[in-house]
Amino acid sequence: MIGRITLMSGAAALSLAACATAPAVVADPAPQVAAAAPASPPPPPPPAAPAGPPQRVQDLGGGIYMLIGNGGNIGLSVGPDGAFVIDDQFPNNADQNLAKIRELAGGGPKFVVNTHWHGDHAGGNAAFAGAGATIFAHENVRKRISGQVATPALGGSGNAPASPPEAWPVVTFTQGVDFHLNGETINVYKVQASHTDGDSFVHFREPDILHMGDVFFNGRFPVIDIGSGGSVKGFLAAQKDALTRVSATTRIIPGHGELATRADLEKSIAMLEGAIAAVQARIDAGDTLEQAVARKPLAPWSSWAWNFINEDRFTTIVYTGLKAGT
Ligand SMILES: [Zn+2]
Repeated sequence: MIGRITLMSGAAALSLAACATAPAVVADPAPQVAAAAPASPPPPPPPAAPAGPPQRVQDLGGGIYMLIGNGGNIGLSVGPDGAFVIDDQFPNNADQNLAKIRELAGGGPKFVVNTHWHGDHAGGNAAFAGAGATIFAHENVRKRISGQVATPALGGSGNAPASPPEAWPVVTFTQGVDFHLNGETINVYKVQASHTDGDSFVHFREPDILHMGDVFFNGRFPVIDIGSGGSVKGFLAAQKDALTRVSATTRIIPGHGELATRADLEKSIAMLEGAIAAVQARIDAGDTLEQAVARKPLAPWSSWAWNFINEDRFTTIVYTGLKAGT
């Protein structure tokens, strides 16, 4: 399908048509309107990245790697055409990540794709751009990173501060964009409002490796950022859509957690379906948020709690989203 790509640098913008063969069912979504203020504060942000241990590198073969460390999982393709990077974690571990990429790729990053705007996935943008990368993302990522759209800070009452212009995606798309490099076809395509309103999947077609960004937390309760246009029902629908695209041999890089399989995605879908039904039952019974949380409706899935997303916080996310009709 034809996707519109807009090349932007600061205030200047140049639009051109480009062929982006995003899967046909990935429709350009209707403009998303941020949900009304949630009934209770959203969950606090992930902790800032400490200096941390060296990245754990998982070699997926064929010049493709998964870098696991502080922040969201990084995807990397290396080869004669240069380093292609999916997400760049935090500002304060960018130098560490750049050093690892140079070691693996023999050079700095050429292209970066942000799966969404959160600071544990796009926080390294300025440093990566400074190292020579051109940053690609869905247009809603640029809107939120640049402050063009006011975005409630996760866990805070104010808006997230805009990042400096050097951190803004330079190339934005509405539906998707394809990369042809290092002998690979790499499809980047927008998915429906789910974790935020600007989530993209990245599929390395030939080795069949899918990076799902934060639309998949492997074995963990996910964050669903309603204030950024995310949707509880959309999150489940996006995972179900992904399930139709992967096979038993597809390897899935989640936004957080270990390298995953189709079976892991099925488990996540089952958990979400159960959690949504359990919380909806509390809503149908007339519970306030506080009453619903107190009844521990997610107790059957307590093993999915992690870090700052415990049962109570995920109950709050699901309740808030369902009450907002999203
Ligand atoms: Zn996120």
